Amino acid sequence: MYIDSHCHIDFEDLANQGDALFDAMRDAGVDYALCAAVSVERLPGVLAIAEARPNVFCSVGVHPEHTEGEDPKAERLVELAKHPKVVAIGETGLDYYWHKDQPEWQRERFRQHIRAARTCGKPLIIHTREAQADTLRLMREEGADQIGGVMHCFTEDWEMAQGALDLNFYISFSGIVTFKNAAQIKDVATRVPLDRMLIETDSPYLAPVPYRGKLNQPAYVPHVAAEIAKLRGIEVEEVAHASSENFFKLFALARPQS
Ligand SMILES: [Zn+2]
Ligand SMILES: [Zn+2]
Repeated sequence: MYIDSHCHIDFEDLANQGDALFDAMRDAGVDYALCAAVSVERLPGVLAIAEARPNVFCSVGVHPEHTEGEDPKAERLVELAKHPKVVAIGETGLDYYWHKDQPEWQRERFRQHIRAARTCGKPLIIHTREAQADTLRLMREEGADQIGGVMHCFTEDWEMAQGALDLNFYISFSGIVTFKNAAQIKDVATRVPLDRMLIETDSPYLAPVPYRGKLNQPAYVPHVAAEIAKLRGIEVEEVAHASSENFFKLFALARPQS
């Protein structure tokens, strides 16, 4: 069993595929997916998919790149997260790659999300890019370690991974780990303890090799697991099993009966 711990199957290119997307998932042995929200405006679409599909869970949050639309405070996020298929708060975090002026609104939004997660008891899905020090600082200042969560689509160095692991967070690898030039991420993927690792597609973006450059989808997540297994010199089943167990544990979900 594989689980895609982070995807955007509500985005048009994937949502348009309907059943075909879920048939492909099943055929690839991908039993569950978590559809991460990026805005309040798009949340109804995310919830509709999660309501229609027993094997899709979702999160509530506003992406750090998002400049338009509602900027919810913690209380509002907590309210939105009451839906039974919502298992996390996010994706949230800091992205200084797309916002090089490092705006204060991004940090304030991130704080509100951490407070919401602590209030409602649901873990955080954190996106971080070129903002290592501030991301870890805000996580510490707001007590993110008390609720935990996952650093999704991890692209930073081992020092950052260690900082996040110390704060009770999991590290999630995407298709980037399969890219030839991703030496730093490959290194981190060999060092993160197996019981603290998740896998994801972040589809429709970042398709793993051999689909690089094409439209990504949850059915491709086994390629991420295969690359991590190769790097660590272990069987792919071990990565699949550990990352699935970690998913159920982090998001407080009952394991399916086998
Ligand atoms: Zn992200
Ligand atoms: Zn994402």
